[in-house]
Amino acid sequence: MTTQQQEQEKRYDPGDSTLKFVTRPDDITLDDDPDTLRAEMSCGHAVTPQSLTAWCRSLLDQGQYKFLCPALKEGTVKKCGALWSYQEVRKLAVLTADEQKHFEEAMAALAAAEFCEYKSVSNVMCKKKNHINL
Ligand SMILES: [Zn+2]
Repeated sequence: MTTQQQEQEKRYDPGDSTLKFVTRPDDITLDDDPDTLRAEMSCGHAVTPQSLTAWCRSLLDQGQYKFLCPALKEGTVKKCGALWSYQEVRKLAVLTADEQKHFEEAMAALAAAEFCEYKSVSNVMCKKKNHINL
């Protein structure tokens, strides 16, 4: 018996025809384990559920709630920077119910904070969200 938490490894369903599977290395971690199924994001970069979850989690931890592709454009040192929708991330990162909750709460909190920061310039009470009907 080990004390290590048995975290269920996330995998893609190979029969999922809505995903585009690729055999090239993961564009986030550069991992090229041939036994891991990788899928292509809308911008064309390859990810695994693990690498995508870890990357997006790290973005949220940094206060960034927009999910931008960290991969380099092929043959350049420029970042892809494609904006992924949460729906896409949720699907391709195979987020668990707990992770979805964490992501959604973090995104909502960060978006609200940004909204307040922006609004405070014009002296609007940001706590009253639906204060448009004057
Ligand atoms: Zn990309």
